[in-house]
Amino acid sequence: MSTSRERGVIALVPDSCTSCMICVQECPTWCITLESHTEQISEEGARRPRSVSVLDSFAIDFGLCMYCGICVDVCPFDALAWMPEHDYATHDRGALVHDTSRLASWGE
Ligand code: SF4
Ligand code: SF4
Repeated sequence: MSTSRERGVIALVPDSCTSCMICVQECPTWCITLESHTEQISEEGARRPRSVSVLDSFAIDFGLCMYCGICVDVCPFDALAWMPEHDYATHDRGALVHDTSRLASWGE
């Protein structure tokens, strides 16, 4: 993913997100919401299945976001990145909540 320094919009790479919740907990305005579930993965040679978190949904409310960049900085897996696009202004408050697919589209 690009590593633009311009704070236009935040893109998500869903496959890189481990649902660790660090960004959710560190966001000062609580504008990130995340849902996930746990699955058991059996690996050849392992004595017991391994638990992994699987991301179900991720959203950022850009109506509350203050563009501080903490979420991008604290993500240990580079799943979030700034993108230079600013063209998402709207009069519809709800449309400022970008869901998983919209956040992912910013990085494409
Ligand atoms: S940039 Fe700051 S306010 Fe916006 S989602 Fe990330 S941590 Fe939250
Ligand atoms: S910090 Fe990164 S890996 Fe953890 S939940 Fe947030 S985006 Fe996903």
